[in-house]
Amino acid sequence: MTYVIQGAKDDFEVVIGLEIHAQITSNAKLFSGASTEFGAEPNTQVSLVDAAMPGMLPTINAECIRQGVRTGLAMGAQINKFSVFDRKNYFYADLPQGYQISQFTHPIVGEGVVKLDMGDGKTKDVGIERIHLEQDAGKSMHDQHPQMTYVDLNRSGVALMEIVSKPDMTSPEEAGAYVTKIRSILRYIGSCDGNMEQGSMRADVNVSVRRAGEPLGTRCELKNINSVRFVRQSIEIEARRQVDILEEGGSIDQETRLFDPVKGETRSMRSKEEAHDYRYFPDPDLLPVEFDDAFVEAARASLPELPDVKKARLVEALGLNDYTASVLVAEKEQADFFEALLDAVVTATKKEAADVASKAANWLTGDLFGALNKAGKTIGESPVSAVQGAGLLSLIEDGTISGRIAKDVFEIMFETGKDADVIVEEKGLKQVSDTGEIEAIIDEIIAVNQGQVEQYRAGKTKLIGFFVGQVMKATGGKANPGVVNQLLKPKLDG
Ligand code: ADP
Ligand code: MG
Repeated sequence: MTYVIQGAKDDFEVVIGLEIHAQITSNAKLFSGASTEFGAEPNTQVSLVDAAMPGMLPTINAECIRQGVRTGLAMGAQINKFSVFDRKNYFYADLPQGYQISQFTHPIVGEGVVKLDMGDGKTKDVGIERIHLEQDAGKSMHDQHPQMTYVDLNRSGVALMEIVSKPDMTSPEEAGAYVTKIRSILRYIGSCDGNMEQGSMRADVNVSVRRAGEPLGTRCELKNINSVRFVRQSIEIEARRQVDILEEGGSIDQETRLFDPVKGETRSMRSKEEAHDYRYFPDPDLLPVEFDDAFVEAARASLPELPDVKKARLVEALGLNDYTASVLVAEKEQADFFEALLDAVVTATKKEAADVASKAANWLTGDLFGALNKAGKTIGESPVSAVQGAGLLSLIEDGTISGRIAKDVFEIMFETGKDADVIVEEKGLKQVSDTGEIEAIIDEIIAVNQGQVEQYRAGKTKLIGFFVGQVMKATGGKANPGVVNQLLKPKLDG
């Protein structure tokens, strides 16, 4: 489905390419041993290298190289066994070296591809242009003093991966799905925590528009977008701005812009003429990075099952529908919870995984996700564990409680954190399957509802529902519905 730019008179298409900066999960910085922990007091995690003291030399952190390679492999990308660190020169108060160490002509990862799940079983491939490693800069703090700007160098030298996409996306939804997918992959493999609120993942969003059939238009780059929602919003607003200019006969200047979510606009930060001349050159303090196939294969062997493969397995081997499988694999924590739940259900019921997978998935995505949503909790904060969920499901499976009663039991579990069997015992919620007991109740109901019995016998057979309802009411919902139906019909038929 093509995206329609709001208010455009002509047939315009939006084209989007993203540069995602992802902080590598590593205890130490890219070229120094200083800590990378979030939230520390300003300037407490700054080594002499990060402060760019004269004579200091960078030492490469092998773990960051390994994580870069794992990330490339997870995106099916070309791994470059030879790559080079360059100096990207510019002057800014939060950059004591006067240059950022990055990769330019020889990045560690080349072309790859990421598959987006666009709903209804539709997918979309987005090309990866390259992934390179670079240092983060420090942070200017303008709100600490009325006249002065302070600088915090804790982030200075922290390892980032820059993941550059091809200009393959053509709607805000695709761009949002792309960021979500990249974050999902990074979290699965653990190379970045994907935490956009804390700044460990952020996106520069390149947007251009063109009339149908025309070559690519001039792009503008929206800097440092820090949520999926803002990625979508900023594209809508920027595409509209560009279309307005073009429809009035103007042209787009290539520039870097700032997205202001409060005002709902983008503003120019700097034009192409003002763009920095970075004077890239190989960093003479660092040798090129070289590794062998064994290093790559070890990195590959360390990868977990990735979301696309997991989804295919849930659909093919376990019989889940496409939608449910997508929901479950989208976040690693959810997928892990599901697998733990399913394992526990299989253990408790001794049934085949494929026979109980859909029930487990429906309970998880329906009941538990619903309750978590309402309570504003994440799956990691769930008061009901996977094993407890399996306890509940196995009580339904073995007929101890009905699906109806299970809903009530679950509510109590969610509130109290108690196990399902304890609640069922305490509240006396065991399903009644004893035919004698149920038969007695049925006889009583038939006796006091003779009018309905006559109507039933005169052909209004739908009234069976009424009788089932009465039996359920009389037993507090605990009668086994199968047994009720079995006993009721012959009695009504007379
Ligand atoms: P720079 O460092 O100048 O931003 P990069 O090559 O690092 O250049 O990144 C360019 C980004 O812009 C890529 O993600 C690419 O897909 C995207 N891009 C390039 N041309 C266009 C265009 N015409 N419209 C939208 N995005 C584009
Ligand atoms: Mg850029």
